[in-house]
Amino acid sequence: MKIIQKFSSHFDERKSPIDMIVFHATATKTLEETLSIFIEKEEGGRVSSHYVIDRDGTIYQIIPEEKRAWHAGISRWKDIKEDINSHSIGIEFQCPPTGERTFTEFSKEQIESGLLLCEDIMKRYKIKPENVVAHSDIAPDRKFDPGSTFPWEVFVQKGLAANPDRRPILNENRDFLLTKEENKC
Ligand SMILES: [Zn+2]
Repeated sequence: MKIIQKFSSHFDERKSPIDMIVFHATATKTLEETLSIFIEKEEGGRVSSHYVIDRDGTIYQIIPEEKRAWHAGISRWKDIKEDINSHSIGIEFQCPPTGERTFTEFSKEQIESGLLLCEDIMKRYKIKPENVVAHSDIAPDRKFDPGSTFPWEVFVQKGLAANPDRRPILNENRDFLLTKEENKC
């Protein structure tokens, strides 16, 4: 598993141990655009993720795992009511949008890399399959990624995720529920 490091300053300190993985779709057209947002952007709404997996399967590491990246936003999962950024490792799959809430198919290469990376992280931190989640699982009223084209069944077959039948909950009022500041990743 080859990982290219391109570190960003968009992080701070974790306040809890790592016990989750959150999958995202970048919703950007190119890797360059994604890296520019995660690394270079300095004004307003700074975001980041530990890893980005490009369409060709190359894995880029943006934030050291021991640091808290900024990808989950306001979110919750089971007993974890807040600060999922402190609990999780964020993995972004480079994937252009096809609509406001939909994404193109994920490539075979990037899913293969995603499986390897996910398995490796789960082993190292003893993360349970039910704690490998979609961004839309933890923020269902405002996030849709990685969306309906993400092949959860492949991860479930390998014991790397649970509950393959995910459907983002569509809430038409979602844009009015949170302020712009709260809605950033
Ligand atoms: Zn996301």
